[in-house]
Amino acid sequence: MSGFELDVSATLGALQPSMTLGITAKAKSLKAAGRDVASMCAGEPDFDTPEHIKAAAIAALEAGDTKYTPGSGRMDLREAIAEKLRTENSVPTTADQVVVAPGAKFSVFSTIVALCSAGDEVLIPAPFWLSYAEMVTAAGAKAVIVPTSGADGFRLDADVLRGCITSATKLLILNSPSNPTGVVHPRETIETIAELAIANSFMVLADEIYERLVYDEGYEHVSIASLSSEMAERTITVNGFSKAFAMTGWRLGYAAAPKWLISRIAALQSHSTSGPTSFAQAGALVALTGEQDCIEAMRQAFATRRDRIYELLSAIPGVVVSKPRGAFYIFPDISASGLDSMSFAERLLDDYDVAVIPGKPFAADGHVRLSYACSMETIETACSRMADFCASL
Ligand code: PMP
Ligand code: GLU
Repeated sequence: MSGFELDVSATLGALQPSMTLGITAKAKSLKAAGRDVASMCAGEPDFDTPEHIKAAAIAALEAGDTKYTPGSGRMDLREAIAEKLRTENSVPTTADQVVVAPGAKFSVFSTIVALCSAGDEVLIPAPFWLSYAEMVTAAGAKAVIVPTSGADGFRLDADVLRGCITSATKLLILNSPSNPTGVVHPRETIETIAELAIANSFMVLADEIYERLVYDEGYEHVSIASLSSEMAERTITVNGFSKAFAMTGWRLGYAAAPKWLISRIAALQSHSTSGPTSFAQAGALVALTGEQDCIEAMRQAFATRRDRIYELLSAIPGVVVSKPRGAFYIFPDISASGLDSMSFAERLLDDYDVAVIPGKPFAADGHVRLSYACSMETIETACSRMADFCASL
């Protein structure tokens, strides 16, 4: 140890490392060391990337597609993304409104940093994906938590939302289907958010990364930018390849936004990451333009697992579960255990070999998050061990 240290950045000094990534890595290393851990923590599909997508990347690599691409991504991929947004999401978009990034996470980050700074407030309906609030902090802006309740399925209440809006509100982050709750906000909620955004002049960052993973009749994904041209002018739509196409390690996502803002996002990316990996973009192009049946096969597998995990967790005395309608997470209330979420998750891992993510960093300390993007066997083992743990308390 040299003993030499300086003060770190005042804005970034309080930033916490991502607990989803941290616990996932811990569970992997325990498994590698021989522990029989049932891991329910990783927010990533257990499926391999479909063959035709891998083949396109391999062919690109072999053809020498190994150079820098434009800073905002390949033009043909940006065109394919714009076309997808227009036809599948009814979001009016042209290729020059799209920036392809190394992961949707970076698209969310560059949007927040491009738009927000000290004095700005960002509304985040809770429970929320833990990185949002940290990114807002990193931008020097203020995260304003909009509470929802598990008792009514984590639906957003219009009056509660209205009460959180101030003259400093610059952005609202909408994540439907949601990580960690699995809530799919109904069309009326999305319409209310749009009305409030237009009336109060704030933007909406629509993180639609789980849009393809919706499981029940009567629940549909609605892109807020499709509601009206006024709302399209106020929306940044973020999406990616990680979840729908099982491409987490490829690191590919994108943002589509009005030109005045996408030009700022593009400038930031040009000075930070540059364009994403060249041959990965070749795979992404085929993911969007090739056959889409692979998505449906994975969606159906997730739906079956969702049904089973909901049934198993609901049967554990003292555990209260709201049925997730989309994404691949379930977010039970474990407050009857008398433990906070950090102690619950720690003891469940240490004593019962089940890895889950505590609700605390998602702004819901009475809950834990289980990802069911894993085998049915892991789901059954994890739930049976969790039942034993709860019974022991
Ligand atoms: N948004 C949400 C809600 C997520 O859960 C994730 C998880 N990875 C991301 C964005 C980022 O995805 P990626 O960077 O892998 O594209
Ligand atoms: N989004 C996933 C999760 O919530 C992956 C990890 C991360 O990027 O946070 O588990």
